[in-house]
Amino acid sequence: MINLYELSKTDLQTLLTGWGEPKFRSDQLYTWLYEQRVKSFDQMSNLPGALRARLASETSLGALQLVTEKQSKDGTIKRLYQLPDGQLIESVLMPYDDDRRTACISTQAGCAMGCVFCATGQMGFARHLTAAEIFEQAAHFAADLAAEGDRLSNVVLMGMGEPFHNYDQTLEAIARLQNDLGIGARHITVSTVGLVPQIRQFAETGLQVKLAISLHAATDPERTALLPINKRWNLGELIEACRYYVDQTGRRVTFEWALIRGENDTSEQAHQLGQLLKGLLCHVNLIPLNPTNGYDGRPSNPDTVTQFIKTLESYGVPATVRVRRGIDIDAGCGQLKSAVLKTQRPRGESIISIDSL
Ligand code: SAH
Ligand code: SF4
Repeated sequence: MINLYELSKTDLQTLLTGWGEPKFRSDQLYTWLYEQRVKSFDQMSNLPGALRARLASETSLGALQLVTEKQSKDGTIKRLYQLPDGQLIESVLMPYDDDRRTACISTQAGCAMGCVFCATGQMGFARHLTAAEIFEQAAHFAADLAAEGDRLSNVVLMGMGEPFHNYDQTLEAIARLQNDLGIGARHITVSTVGLVPQIRQFAETGLQVKLAISLHAATDPERTALLPINKRWNLGELIEACRYYVDQTGRRVTFEWALIRGENDTSEQAHQLGQLLKGLLCHVNLIPLNPTNGYDGRPSNPDTVTQFIKTLESYGVPATVRVRRGIDIDAGCGQLKSAVLKTQRPRGESIISIDSL
């Protein structure tokens, strides 16, 4: 079975001309896939019946199988997909009041980085996703929205996995989001736990894609306790790479900070963070901690959050709180998969050493 979402525009043409079809047929097929964004071959009404039948028997519209879908009271949709080899991944669609429709997609099955508060980190690493598997998650949401006369406007690579650990496939998927789904670079965000060489490499691509860095602590001992990758690249090296990114691109960096009560929401941490980021073109995104089974930290109190923001402002560092979405449907990173797998351990997963990166 050929997965059409794995094929570029040129590949589609090669396939159909190989079947003896004229070139304009592959243009029509491309239009159905990526402009009309239909979900079945039956809807491709200007293709001859025989071609539609051949497409239906020899090709597929994607390789991801939907296992579960949950819809939150706030409209957030969370999906669990099974890949052809049995691995499970999550994607989320978040509709915002201002007409944004944002897909949050995964780049790996599991994650090797072992961040202590993260449900995906607690699962360990299974494998990298291919560019097509990354892209397809967004393509399905785009197709579903198109069927309702709506449009996917933004994509964040903040689902399961560390995008920069799977750098080449992630960048290829980003190119396809732009070329095939028409999502502008400025509407795409890639989030990394802080893989310094890849941040530098990314800075040099000249892409206008937004960069988010998971910071979560402002001193090395505290960051290492939460994010083991900090042993490999410490805060000094990370901030240096962020400065390089800002210098190269002229773009600001977003820092993500999951507020954990009594851990990283103290006045001392706020001052240390202010000192660390003072003068850097950046923005701090405060995320209330999503409690997970493997970590007993709790989200901060609202008053503490307000105070934290005020302290950062006194250093000229802008900060906002990200609204928690889909909290009633396990929509935090890796949480739906953990909920589904409570009785069942994923196959072949192991934590690989960060030293092998
Ligand atoms: N691996 C990448 C992207 C996926 S995680 C990264 O770490 O940046 C997306 C964001 O969710 C990261 O900022 C991560 O630190 C955060 N996150 C993970 N688990 C969380 C939890 N339980 N509560 C709040 N934020 C969490
Ligand atoms: Fe991996 Fe990101 Fe989760 Fe850390 S927070 S374990 S890098 S997915």
